[in-house]
Amino acid sequence: SIMPASLSAISNGARHGILFKGGVHLENLSHLKAIAFDKTGTLTKGKPEVTDVLVLDGLAVDDVLLRTASIENHSNHPLAQAIVKYVKAKLDDHPLLYPDSLEDVSGWGVKAQFDGDEWKIGKAAFVGHSAAEAFKNGASKQLASEGKTVVFVQKNDEIVAIIGLKDVVRQETKNAIDQLKTRGIYTIMLTGDSENTAQAIAKESHVNDYLSECLPEKKVEHLKDLKKRFGNVAMVGDGINDAPALATANVGIAMGEGSDVALETADVVLMKNDLPRIAEAIHLSERMNRIIK
Ligand code: ADP
Ligand code: MG
Repeated sequence: SIMPASLSAISNGARHGILFKGGVHLENLSHLKAIAFDKTGTLTKGKPEVTDVLVLDGLAVDDVLLRTASIENHSNHPLAQAIVKYVKAKLDDHPLLYPDSLEDVSGWGVKAQFDGDEWKIGKAAFVGHSAAEAFKNGASKQLASEGKTVVFVQKNDEIVAIIGLKDVVRQETKNAIDQLKTRGIYTIMLTGDSENTAQAIAKESHVNDYLSECLPEKKVEHLKDLKKRFGNVAMVGDGINDAPALATANVGIAMGEGSDVALETADVVLMKNDLPRIAEAIHLSERMNRIIK
């Protein structure tokens, strides 16, 4: 009968650090054709650090940084936290200032009013045309091609600073992806980050393909496309952002140290953020299906 075999596979999974929320997910895992991965916090550690700071000539660097950190201090995005940490260390814990008004625009950046000036901090497409132009050539493109995420700081229609942040690819990512590819599974990375950054991280991670500049609703659309193309598709993610995509996939897989929403939405949880467990889970599910059949 089905029950004893899937139950023993579920408890076997638990012993290996994989939590299945039901036998049906084991069945689906054994027929997987493609897996989509979130970038930040999934393929990478999700702990970016500031590596480069470029401030427009003629401006007081510390003043620009202080205001940038004072704005980012009101966002809980990992990039924002990394910028605040960097600036606090650089300015010897100088107290932060208070912007007059603030808006955290999820997936894009932060907007603020500060002493009569209009500030925008975030991706090129968020701050506006001048950043998009600056991005295509020069320093920001160089940073992105090194796999760094580029944050633009705009004050009244002028880019006053560009900040590069690097988030390292997990040590085990490459091997975990290679194992899946060996099984004939197609792997793809979905990220909200820019094209050049995405390309560099995708290359380092060994995924077959990647899609950049994905807003959360775009991730859902891409998953629907992947399901049409491949049939049985899994999504692996860690963030609140990823929950809709996890729910759309045939199998949603959450990183164990991910956000509560991701853990609740997922069908399978990797208890230790451990990507190689995915190939193990597939192996387990194939064995179980052989026992049943
Ligand atoms: P990801 O899919 O890589 O986890 P998000 O969807 O959270 O990324 O954000 C996409 C992009 O928006 C980031 O790469 C960054 O460029 C920009 N962004 C979002 N929030 C902020 C912020 N608080 N400060 C600076 N940039 C931000
Ligand atoms: Mg993430």
